Amino acid sequence: MIEIVLASKNKHKAEEIKAILGENYNVLTQAEAGAGDIDVIEDGKTFEENAIKKAKSIMWATGKVTVADDSGLEVKALDNRPGVYTARFAGENATDKENIDKLLEEMKDIPMYKRDAKFVCCIAVAKPDGSVKTYRGECEGKILCERQGDNGFGYDPVFLYEKYACSLAMLDPEIKNAVSHRANALKQMSEDFNR
Ligand code: IMP
Repeated sequence: MIEIVLASKNKHKAEEIKAILGENYNVLTQAEAGAGDIDVIEDGKTFEENAIKKAKSIMWATGKVTVADDSGLEVKALDNRPGVYTARFAGENATDKENIDKLLEEMKDIPMYKRDAKFVCCIAVAKPDGSVKTYRGECEGKILCERQGDNGFGYDPVFLYEKYACSLAMLDPEIKNAVSHRANALKQMSEDFNR
């Protein structure tokens, strides 16, 4: 059993990460590892910078192997915005609803064939020996013109996963967790852990 601390307070992300990693991992939350009061400011210019900062900060506080996820959406027609600002697209402390409303409004005149987008996930692993590694996963699709589906979280209702011709929020969680940007990055991390 591999013990890791998860440097995230996003409960949806934590659920997905636990489900993807499965039974070979004992995943401790920040609170369970004694770092529940730490909020890391995400001021990096890239997903990698933010993920490394989160992983290192919580590793220093707990002394344990720490895994952090920084993720977001890149929309081609918006010059890859919102990128690292995905969680704050509609402003500091914006809700998922406000973020999606802003995205749909900005894209209202863009035809379907120009609505390509991808989710990006950077996983950073910081170990007490001082080493840090990152793994990048992506999931390609398109931004829908309206919400569809109730599963998942964040922007899932407006992200079309073309292979199944439905939004990520319409997929069963097991299917999303097999094909997502997060699954892709965590698979690479697991392969490294088991090497
Ligand atoms: P972070 O917590 O700073 O990494 O911000 C991630 C942002 O990207 C939040 O707005 C999330 O809702 C969004 N996001 C990340 N991964 C996903 C996903 O798998 N589905 C939908 N939205 C996601």
